[in-house]
Amino acid sequence: MIYSAKENRYQTMEYRRCGKSGLMLPVMSLGLWHNFGGESSFENAREIILGSFDLGITHFDLANNYGPPAGSAEETFGRILSKDLKAYRDEILVTTKAGYGMWEGPYGDGGSRKYLVSSLDQSLKRMKLDYVDIFYHHRPDPETPLEETMEALALLVQQGKALYIGLSNYSNELLKEASVILKDLGVRCLIHQHNYSMLNQQNASLKPVLKEEGIGSIAFCPLAQGLLTNKYIHGIPKDSRAAGKSIFLGPEAITENVIQKIVKLNEIAETRNQNLAQMALTWALQTGELTSVILGASKLSQIQDNLGALKRLTLSEKELQTIDTILLS
Ligand code: NDP
Repeated sequence: MIYSAKENRYQTMEYRRCGKSGLMLPVMSLGLWHNFGGESSFENAREIILGSFDLGITHFDLANNYGPPAGSAEETFGRILSKDLKAYRDEILVTTKAGYGMWEGPYGDGGSRKYLVSSLDQSLKRMKLDYVDIFYHHRPDPETPLEETMEALALLVQQGKALYIGLSNYSNELLKEASVILKDLGVRCLIHQHNYSMLNQQNASLKPVLKEEGIGSIAFCPLAQGLLTNKYIHGIPKDSRAAGKSIFLGPEAITENVIQKIVKLNEIAETRNQNLAQMALTWALQTGELTSVILGASKLSQIQDNLGALKRLTLSEKELQTIDTILLS
């Protein structure tokens, strides 16, 4: 069936300015790490992507290695973008990354100019695009001089293959250093992407440098891969990430202590007429001072559910304190 976007798609989503840039991001973005590769159902992936766009999600987060197999999430997205979403390209932000191992030999990993330039060329081909909106260095590479990596990113902007540059998984010091180098090259770092959720708060320390440099921030795994929902309270559902083939979340992560916290957090969420996922997203956006959170999903209904958080996007001081006490228990 021919897709036509819902006319009311911009009515409920909130859009936030990304750092000190001209770009606005939806507070909730969609990530294509799991469930969009060649081994997943294309029809389900299409339903999630188009359904998300209908709900005002204009930002889609990819990387060269998302699949499995690596590269296939970009191919899936490219098929949908070039067919269903072709008329809407200018309403959409496409993000991709390079930095983890992608192909054999010495040039398919790290932060060299050789790797980053070839990888973005490959991503553009897979997605059938002339340019991406944001291109990220996915993780720091201690073996490559930071100047070389930043020069490669700046070059890709100058060549028109990326409109903006992002960095991911950088430390406070390295982010500051990289941002200064980029400014000297006439390109700003638009955004930093890091892990942040109630169960992983170590990157909260990035906030001062992000503010100082005028860089936006976006959190990945804001639901700790699904732990911060009520799905694991009574065991591990068969269709969940923890029960599946993912090497990133297994049954060993679902400890007694985690479940005890989740049960208590769920009770707090209920007093706010939210569910735990909605409260966890609210918490991440507020305490992380984030521009956006990247949602992962195995079904469209999860996105619809999570966007319910938009109805009540603030936690009181008292609620924040109660949550802290539970998390420290
Ligand atoms: P989340 O923490 O949001 O976890 C998403 C998973 O939680 C879903 O796939 C689903 O898992 C479950 N879930 C989501 N909503 C609900 C709900 N309402 N009820 C029940 N279960 C729910 O994010 P991800 O871990 O998926 O990461 C998000 C994105 O972040 C990635 O797609 C990627 O774009 C980016 N990322 C970036 C990294 C980087 O290094 N820069 C690293 C990792 C991710 P289930 O399968 O169990 O249904």
